[in-house]
Amino acid sequence: MALLHVLQFPDPLLRNKAKPVAVVDDQIRKMVDDMFETMYEQSGVGLAAIQVNIDKRIIVMDISDDRNQPLCVINPEILTREGVQYESEGCLSFPGVFDKVERSAKIRLKALDRDGQPYELDAEGLLAVCIQHEMDHLDGILFIDHLSALKKDRARKKLEKMRRREF
Ligand code: ZN
Repeated sequence: MALLHVLQFPDPLLRNKAKPVAVVDDQIRKMVDDMFETMYEQSGVGLAAIQVNIDKRIIVMDISDDRNQPLCVINPEILTREGVQYESEGCLSFPGVFDKVERSAKIRLKALDRDGQPYELDAEGLLAVCIQHEMDHLDGILFIDHLSALKKDRARKKLEKMRRREF
């Protein structure tokens, strides 16, 4: 396994759109495993392939406290949506920035697992938020795109300030 470089906003590669995975083979499984390793190393709850400059519809997630419930999501599709929730989100491509985003409260997801087997999953709460956030990445959409112009500006300034501090 290998750690991957996570693209940081405003890298234009974050705006790429991911293509469906045709066959889940060993090469794809290696990408999935590297993505999990990278996500766990950075203490993230989710990572989309676009964030590591892979233009495939692959997401890895683990929302468990013990970090032992990996969820591999390939070629995701949301079958149904219900209700609205408004929770604070962060992103590995925006370290230190958190803001509330409106998402569907409950979703039914269809995807392929690490073996290429199809499954369906009912999600709500944090899991539903995470799936919608990561699926946005696959279409080049970032969570700040859902914020008002004012909040977007605030997030950008905060990032600039943090980067300056690193010097
Ligand atoms: Zn993200």
